[in-house]
Amino acid sequence: MPIPISRRFSATRCALIAIFIAAQLLLPGLLAAAEPLRLQLRWLHQFQFAGYYMALEKGYYRQAGLDVEILQGGPHAAKPIDILLAGQADFAIANSGLVIARMQGKPVVALAAIMQTSPIVWIVRADSGIYSPHDLAGKRVMLMPPPESTELLITLAREGIDLNRLEVQQTSFNPQDLVDRHTDAYDGYSTNEPFWLKQQGVDYRLINPREYGVNYYNDVLATRQALLDKRPKDVEAFVQASLAGWQYALDNIEESVQLIHRRYAPNKSLEHLRFEAEELKKLILPELVQLGHMNPGRWETIARNYVELGMAEGPAELDGFIYSQPPAPDHSLLYKVLAGSLLSLLVLGSVALRFAHLTRRLRQEIRLRRSAESDLLNSNQQLEIMANTDPLTGQLTRRKFEEVVDKEIKRAERYGFPLSLVFMDIDHFKRVNDEHGHEIGDRVLSAVASRVKTHLRESDSLCRWGGEEFIVLMPHIDLDQVCALAEKLRAMLAATPVVENIHITASFGVAQWQPGQDLGTLLQRADKMLYRAKQLGRNRVECYPAD
Ligand code: GH3
Ligand code: MG
Ligand code: MG
Repeated sequence: MPIPISRRFSATRCALIAIFIAAQLLLPGLLAAAEPLRLQLRWLHQFQFAGYYMALEKGYYRQAGLDVEILQGGPHAAKPIDILLAGQADFAIANSGLVIARMQGKPVVALAAIMQTSPIVWIVRADSGIYSPHDLAGKRVMLMPPPESTELLITLAREGIDLNRLEVQQTSFNPQDLVDRHTDAYDGYSTNEPFWLKQQGVDYRLINPREYGVNYYNDVLATRQALLDKRPKDVEAFVQASLAGWQYALDNIEESVQLIHRRYAPNKSLEHLRFEAEELKKLILPELVQLGHMNPGRWETIARNYVELGMAEGPAELDGFIYSQPPAPDHSLLYKVLAGSLLSLLVLGSVALRFAHLTRRLRQEIRLRRSAESDLLNSNQQLEIMANTDPLTGQLTRRKFEEVVDKEIKRAERYGFPLSLVFMDIDHFKRVNDEHGHEIGDRVLSAVASRVKTHLRESDSLCRWGGEEFIVLMPHIDLDQVCALAEKLRAMLAATPVVENIHITASFGVAQWQPGQDLGTLLQRADKMLYRAKQLGRNRVECYPAD
């Protein structure tokens, strides 16, 4: 059965959508495969880097179109910052010494500070008699080379303890030295060695720089300026995916511990990893601080401290050191534009509605006015018709006829053509009314007018002068012709009944207009002839001048 075109079209569209989705899923992977990104850790695999493992394992990097490789560090590995600057890694986990590199003109950028406070502490035995930095004077104190040991050096400086008063030892990275009393103060991480010492049954105390006002960032995610310039979207994607990984790790510590133990740090016990996770949480402060947050003021303080220590040269220029997310599309502007547009649309809409309403009203008014005008015209026309036309016979009224005669006299004066007037009066009409009633009398009047009219020319004007009297104005013909026509009319009326069996006759007086005469004079003459016709027995035509 053939598939209908609409179904085929939707099937094609579905296929295209599927291809598009597949491309969305596969393309980032293909792109990422072309340019993998490497993250250099600053120590061996442990919970300290849980966020990055989880971002990788949970597919956050892949979903962001990134192919990420995590490289572990260790006691004998090169410094992460150096590896980063050498281009052997694209991202590195550094401590706050990162800012020194920047002050030295090295193109490093701090992307996110995972630990809001540093885990670096001195660990001393509980039975050592060491309770504060001052008690370190004259003691064997381990120190990593700067900048790893910055927080500890700053603490000494703050407390006014000259480094020369200590017996400084290279760090051994082996807390067994504390157990074996090969050192009095072991520099380690609050998140790591204490657990091991506990396991060994060795009581310990922490000399924590934080308690002496030294509160530095640590485990700072860093990159090179060049990478940021070249692949800003990838850098942003990496930061966001990493922070998402961290959030997941902190929300799912046991799952993360299990995974790290299984895939990355099998030598670290689950208990050790759990301890590390709990201690790390105290440094990340996820409940208090937004993950990865960096405060420019704190970085400036850290930079100044390095200058004070002689580990860096001021002034601390940190422009471009602290990563700022690429500006999100300016939605505020968009919203403003949208709001403006919406407002404009609303205004335009309301104006349009108002306009439409007004237009509708105007049209309605125009319609009403036209209708009124038409009514008025009609009524005017009707008034004119009423004023000009006799309602019973449909012929000209006396008033209108006077107008017409006036014009015709003027034309006759100007052009010199003849003009005659026929005055007609129905004979003994009173009898018609008396014998047949007024109504029949009306019908007779109407019928007489119609009959007469049919015998007239277009240029002639018939008027009901009043009662049973009619006048015909005849231009352009001589008196003889008019008299002959009047005779014809008389004979016509007298020949046949006008209404039913009612016979009537009429008398006619004819007069011709003479130049200089007005209607009155002309009428008088015609009327005189009519009177004469009556006098002579009715049913007659008398023409002026009579013989
Ligand atoms: P004459 O031959 O002398 O003209 O006699 P007559 O009866 O025609 O003349 P008269 O002037 O004495 O009477 C005119 C009559 O016409 C009087 C009137 O009732 C009648 N009349 C006038 N106007 C109308 C009208 O509009 N309808 C009807 N039915 N009768 C009318
Ligand atoms: Mg009369
Ligand atoms: Mg009469």
